[in-house]
Amino acid sequence: MRYLPIHIDTHGADILIVGGEAAAEAKLRTLLKTEANLILVAAVISTEIKRWVKAGHITHHNRDFTPADLDGKRLVYAATEDDTINGEIAALCRARFLPVNAADYKEACDFITPALVDRSPVAISIGTEGTSPGLARAIKADLETRLPSTLGVYALHVQKLRAKVKSVMPDLSDRQRFWAAIFGGKDLTAQLRLSGDALLEAVEERLKGDTGNGGGMVSLVGAGPGNPDLLTHQARQKLHSADVVVYDRLVSQGVLDFGRREAEYIYVGKEPGGVSTPQDEINAIIVAKALEGQSVVRLKSGDPLIFGRADEEIDALIADGIPFDICPGITSASAAAAQIGTSLTTRGHNKSVTFMTGHDAKGFAEQDWVNLAKPGARAAVYMGIGASRFIQGRLMLHGASSDLPITIVENASRPEQKVISATLKTLPDALVEAGIKGPAILMIGYAVRDAKIEISKEKAAL
Ligand code: SAH
Repeated sequence: MRYLPIHIDTHGADILIVGGEAAAEAKLRTLLKTEANLILVAAVISTEIKRWVKAGHITHHNRDFTPADLDGKRLVYAATEDDTINGEIAALCRARFLPVNAADYKEACDFITPALVDRSPVAISIGTEGTSPGLARAIKADLETRLPSTLGVYALHVQKLRAKVKSVMPDLSDRQRFWAAIFGGKDLTAQLRLSGDALLEAVEERLKGDTGNGGGMVSLVGAGPGNPDLLTHQARQKLHSADVVVYDRLVSQGVLDFGRREAEYIYVGKEPGGVSTPQDEINAIIVAKALEGQSVVRLKSGDPLIFGRADEEIDALIADGIPFDICPGITSASAAAAQIGTSLTTRGHNKSVTFMTGHDAKGFAEQDWVNLAKPGARAAVYMGIGASRFIQGRLMLHGASSDLPITIVENASRPEQKVISATLKTLPDALVEAGIKGPAILMIGYAVRDAKIEISKEKAAL
């Protein structure tokens, strides 16, 4: 992120606009909504600007710009119709460390003006760092239709109610949880449309039930395969209100970004073949944090209940009497199947599918090879890269065809996704040739549906 979005206090600030035609008019449409003193320098001004001057919203100096105009200003908009003049004004501002925006001249700008959804005091700014103003406008249009026009009034009601909630709940994290629960219902848009009275009622109702006794809890949450769009709504809500997020190696940054900035983040990843946090230690962390009264999210890749050692953590929580819940996630096998456009079960082909691991505590994992080698059998192998030669050997030994299709999906659903088509015969070599490092899943008995994979790759590239 090159441009940092910040909201600047304009109350009583002097803002200079140089220029009086189309470019200046566009800037003024936003600036007029602020509480700044707007000072405009231009020898020629448009009819619209004349109207604003006449109405007393702008102080107009009817002449060309001089450097002395910059004295005492908080921000400057160089918005004449001439790029050279705008560039010269910008250079003067920069020499004085005075933040400047030069219309249509990004290189000369210290700040750029975002597209704005204005529901004052709620303001949403959308910036694309100049990559696509059209995209910013489309996002703005979308948000405009979804956010009620009364959102600003709603925010003011919330502001009034905050004191009331604070008096009942002195603890900050209790209050953050409380408000997350108010706003985190099924339908945010419907919530935001509530009248002041209905909001008051909802707050009072909840205050009766939840007086913030500080009881900690743990949620085992599935982070999905990595693409934040594949996170469940419930997982997002949990992340929004967590005090502590204890997360694994394969949890992507895009998913972690749903957490609060103020939350505590604890990494307990297990590096393959490298340093890892022992399971007992992870159990101890989540128990201790919950006993402190914190709301803990234990975030695991994919679905927490598939090869995630969830039972061990649940046992530890039960042993200490800590309340917990579980939010399922999209497991890698489902994500991989979706990416290659193939059903996990196909009528007339396989009545079951095996989710198996390549490794267990003892090394390469033994399986029911007799059944897995039967014609039509299908399996998704987690943690299978290192065990690929072993799996190949076992399946062949039990009579599986060497032409059996195997699709390897690395980083399923993420931008760096790779899909490799192999057979039982070529499996280990195909992994080496493609440089597959993981995380990857081996889809045994599954071939790629070609048309689909083209689309997925394009999507992934975007
Ligand atoms: N609970 C997880 C699995 C954890 S075991 C789930 O339900 O998906 C870790 C293994 O999951 C990795 O070795 C890899 O086989 C698989 N995996 C996790 N994320 C993946 C991804 N984005 N693409 C492919 N495989 C993935």
